[in-house]
Amino acid sequence: MNIALPIGHVDTNRIETITTQTLAPMVRDIDAGQYPEGVMRAYGAAGAYGSHITGETGVMDAIIAMSRAGEVCTSTAFCMWCQDALAWYIYSSDNDFLKSTIGPRVASGEILGGTGLSNPMKAVNGIEPMRLKAERVDGGYRVKGVLPWVSNLSEGGYFGIIFDAPVPRSDAVKKVMAVAFADWDGVKLKLDHDFVAMGGTATCQVMFKDAFIPDDYILADPAEDFIKRIRGGFVLMQCGMASGMVQSCIDLMEQVRGPLGHVNCYLEKQPEDFAADLTDLMAEITDLARTPYEPSNAYFRRVLTARLKGGEMAVESAHYAMLHCGARGYVSQGAAQRRLREAYFVAIVTPATKQLRKMLADLPA
Ligand SMILES: Cc1cc2nc3c(=O)[nH]c(=O)nc-3n(C[C@H](O)[C@H](O)[C@H](O)COP(=O)(O)OP(=O)(O)OC[C@H]3O[C@@H](n4cnc5c(N)ncnc54)[C@H](O)[C@@H]3O)c2cc1C
Repeated sequence: MNIALPIGHVDTNRIETITTQTLAPMVRDIDAGQYPEGVMRAYGAAGAYGSHITGETGVMDAIIAMSRAGEVCTSTAFCMWCQDALAWYIYSSDNDFLKSTIGPRVASGEILGGTGLSNPMKAVNGIEPMRLKAERVDGGYRVKGVLPWVSNLSEGGYFGIIFDAPVPRSDAVKKVMAVAFADWDGVKLKLDHDFVAMGGTATCQVMFKDAFIPDDYILADPAEDFIKRIRGGFVLMQCGMASGMVQSCIDLMEQVRGPLGHVNCYLEKQPEDFAADLTDLMAEITDLARTPYEPSNAYFRRVLTARLKGGEMAVESAHYAMLHCGARGYVSQGAAQRRLREAYFVAIVTPATKQLRKMLADLPA
């Protein structure tokens, strides 16, 4: 079952089987903190993390696979995004070493990993200071600092980072982007489960104590232009978490139409309202996914707007799923309350709703 497909091919039948037969029965365990490693590897073998790296056209396939998982479990969908983001960084760079060594193994799910970019994403938008700083040494950089949360990460994993480093012979500071390995000397992981949902995301605090990052693992130095290159795909792919959430909330509302429709019809929002909005959102995402490297601010503004809309729809649809389901959604095993807790993650993960609004306010036309 886990035989990997050639990179660039997604087997949608296999994605469907993994989702319904393996993932769906274990969502409560994931909610309680179990990391779905077997599912993540199986999705990788089915091509879920390889479509977006072979050119510009596969981004939508990655989003659709993530969305299908997200209909059942946002923790898993987020872990897929982490994996997609790591592959996206490697294959968007000029680093042939990474593209030929760990790249194919990330794309197939053989290596699992993620991205520690929420701090630098906030830093470049003037929200918080950079947490990782480095000095230049022979053959690489020595990095220190702490990233509070990096998901889809355990021993043997890789993850994208950005750190501040001095510009040689100057007082200026530049950003450098690299792939880090969890098992390097000076890198330490500490698992963090202390969330209201998303417990199964293998989210770690990562400490760098003078960890050496070899030049072979540098994605961009300086990284400012590279960040612009990857930003569209990074943000756009998160829409898969949102669309999966909205679709599942529509389904929950439909499921109780029979027994509760006579009174649910008085609620302000009905499943068909969310279905219409989701159709519009998917059309916009599909269009944007055709040109993820488009550098213009106008394009990035559309991406940010779609992502903002997705986060807001995720929360609103989960809120209405809870109202439609009533007490059957409010019990400890109820799907609606789990979806509601998960939905807020879509709106608070970087770029969070407030950051998206700031970025849209700051971005030149
Ligand atoms: C389950 C989960 C998984 C995540 N996975 C990743 C990942 O893979 N990669 C990644 O880069 N980021 C990850 N994050 C971080 C996430 O993307 C956001 O950056 C984070 O949720 C905060 O975003 P915000 O913009 O709302 O900032 P805010 O919450 O508004 O502010 C963040 C600031 O508050 C501080 N802070 C946080 N918690 C507390 C607290 N309990 N008390 C006091 N101060 C606090 C932080 O140090 C930070 O400076 C994850 C977060 C969660 C909850």
